[in-house]
Amino acid sequence: MSENKSLITLESVEKIYKTKAGPLKVLKGVNFRVNEGEFVAIVGPSGSGKSTLINMITGIDRPTSGEVYVAGQRLTHLNENQVAKWRGRNVGVVFQFFQLLPTITVLENVMLPMHYVGTYKGNRRERAMELLELVDIPDVADKYPSQISGGQQQRAAIARALSNDPKVIVGDEPTGNLDTVSAGLIFALFEELVSQGKTIVMVTHDRDLAGQVPRVEEVRDGQLMSETEIDQRLVAGR
Ligand code: ADP
Ligand code: MG
Repeated sequence: MSENKSLITLESVEKIYKTKAGPLKVLKGVNFRVNEGEFVAIVGPSGSGKSTLINMITGIDRPTSGEVYVAGQRLTHLNENQVAKWRGRNVGVVFQFFQLLPTITVLENVMLPMHYVGTYKGNRRERAMELLELVDIPDVADKYPSQISGGQQQRAAIARALSNDPKVIVGDEPTGNLDTVSAGLIFALFEELVSQGKTIVMVTHDRDLAGQVPRVEEVRDGQLMSETEIDQRLVAGR
């Protein structure tokens, strides 16, 4: 059974940035596990370390100390090129500002990761078209990103994130730049992906959306509140 298989494991993850004012500890020993098939929302104040935490999972950034395992891979052992290649196969990343390439069409954007990673040697165009159908925007396949709405751009970005069929989808405020209706539709799409077996970790400022996610983790000052609550119970002698 896959229910209790940990797909994401962060062990004692610390992240310290060097700044002009001196070292800044942004993650203070985070332990975090996500099982296969879970849908997790990450909430917390601006500057608390949510993006830094997400970047540990995608390998976009690496911890100063601690270990990160995602989809069976120990990320801290890989160099930058290896991480990029691993990410392309195993994690779909969705950003607040979509980050589609403006000079190629929507369809070409969705096909791009297939070329980069070298999977799906078959009909990539056909697969990209199927993904655009899945996210409900097959009609804008040949348009450029600037010609479609924000909600459509985010759908395209999700199709792109799915192109190599990753187990894990990670979103950093994926609805943060959308109106309420578009945000709700993107959220519904995430729920559908979870029902199809994907594992999703999504940072959001939207309390309404977070309230609909089965598991909500709050980051405050570089720590997960669920961990500090356990600490408090221990302190209280439980
Ligand atoms: P959040 O996503 O919760 O708003 P971030 O993870 O982006 O927070 O940032 C947490 C803290 O780390 C902030 O104080 C931010 O200024 C700082 N920070 C983030 N990235 C860097 C960096 N590359 N160099 C220095 N400080 C950084
Ligand atoms: Mg952030």
